[in-house]
Amino acid sequence: MIEWNIQSRAHACQACERHFRDQEAYHTLLFDEPAGFARMDVCESCWTSQYGLGASDRKGFISHWQGVYVPPPAAPPEPIARETAESLLRKLVTLGDPQYQAACFILAVMFERKRLLKVQSQANRNGQRVFIYEQPRTGDVFAIADPNLQLNQLEQVQRDVAQLLEHGLDSPANAAVADGAAAAATPPAAGATPGPEPAATTVPTK
Ligand SMILES: [Zn+2]
Repeated sequence: MIEWNIQSRAHACQACERHFRDQEAYHTLLFDEPAGFARMDVCESCWTSQYGLGASDRKGFISHWQGVYVPPPAAPPEPIARETAESLLRKLVTLGDPQYQAACFILAVMFERKRLLKVQSQANRNGQRVFIYEQPRTGDVFAIADPNLQLNQLEQVQRDVAQLLEHGLDSPANAAVADGAAAAATPPAAGATPGPEPAATTVPTK
């Protein structure tokens, strides 16, 4: 899989180090380096003076696009402990585990259809097609490899994604299986409900 985590938008020009202003136009350059893809955000004047002229391959980058800088919002309230499709995709991309490559791809396609992700570039890496996705809301960029899914594999991958969304990445099915085995090995205490049913959640009263 692509050895590349989510890369956030810079808050300052990475050439002259001047901080971006609210709503300032900037340029993102994408480099294909031995260690993986790398992004670089530069201001308009650095783009014009250092990168804008000449063929991009001579400048070393493989792709380029423009964005508008928006300062990060204030810290969000405590996240809800529920797996959303977005948090799941971020975890899977960060994890970089090949077994989730197809799930990443399906989630990314889903977000693209909802216009929550945008393909900014395509590249090839280790003989695989790679889509460079940008999340317009945050400017975050990440690479998702095309798993070349066959039609007959699609259904299984969609089931996997639904399973991950329902149960979350942190409590995978094999953990549930292990719990079930432990419960089967231990005779339930008198009056206890057998089986893997979780304990009732206590709702705090105000
Ligand atoms: Zn600059």
